[in-house]
Amino acid sequence: MPQTKPFLSVRSLSHTYHTNSGETPALRDIHFDLFPGEFAAIVGPSGCGKSTLLELIAGLIPIETGSLLYPACNKTPAIGYMLQKDHLLEHRTIYKNIILGLEIQHRLTEKNLEYVQKLMRQYGIADFASSYPRELSGGMRQRAALIRTLALKPEFLLLDEPFSALDYQTRLDVSDDIAKIRQSGVTTLLVTHDLSEAISIADRIIVLGKRPGHIRKIVTIDFKTNKKLSSKEARIHPKFQEYFNQIWKELKVDE
Ligand code: ADP
Ligand code: MG
Repeated sequence: MPQTKPFLSVRSLSHTYHTNSGETPALRDIHFDLFPGEFAAIVGPSGCGKSTLLELIAGLIPIETGSLLYPACNKTPAIGYMLQKDHLLEHRTIYKNIILGLEIQHRLTEKNLEYVQKLMRQYGIADFASSYPRELSGGMRQRAALIRTLALKPEFLLLDEPFSALDYQTRLDVSDDIAKIRQSGVTTLLVTHDLSEAISIADRIIVLGKRPGHIRKIVTIDFKTNKKLSSKEARIHPKFQEYFNQIWKELKVDE
């Protein structure tokens, strides 16, 4: 992969929150590349600056120190951003929620709506099109939020703990949904505090240490199989435990 130009280059990125009660250094000297189509995960203890990093990349917080570059496309890509809370509007049906972003951006074209139908079938939510969010399980709601994000055809997907509110079984199912994104080739950065989740779906794991968040290690995940393993298959692969122990050790250094 290193022969190709990086999709994203994060260079010496630091961030400090300035509040009335003082300065909170949240990130220190973050430096990494992400390659086109890559699915990377960021893991680290609570409060180490994972969400801050995504917010800086999404442009929600201005960058004070360091830089972000997109060498492969030379411009900021269309970013899709998904959070732990699904932010579905209760008074709109699932379908109306899914097309909300397209509606706001005046992109309700026949082609885009066909794509929405395809996504709804692909992610098994087509039968719920005319239901309201309150009628759906947490997993289905999060799926709807995912399709709403994908409907906009983002070139870069930022996911901030999108499954952490779900129960374990549902999380496994939805993380396989996320793994489907990989097939569509969208470059993705997933923040999670769940190491097993990260190992089972990411190509690479960026391990952050305690605040101010800094890079402890970057680990490439490769199960050396011909086909991409499902999240469940990955979790029982012999190499899974090796990766887990290796990264766990890094996370424990802080304690
Ligand atoms: P994580 O997502 O890894 O749990 P965050 O990026 O949310 O961590 O937060 C990193 C640190 O920055 C924490 O100590 C948090 O309290 C602090 N922080 C986050 N947002 C703000 C803010 N808006 N103002 C001040 N401090 C903040
Ligand atoms: Mg967070």
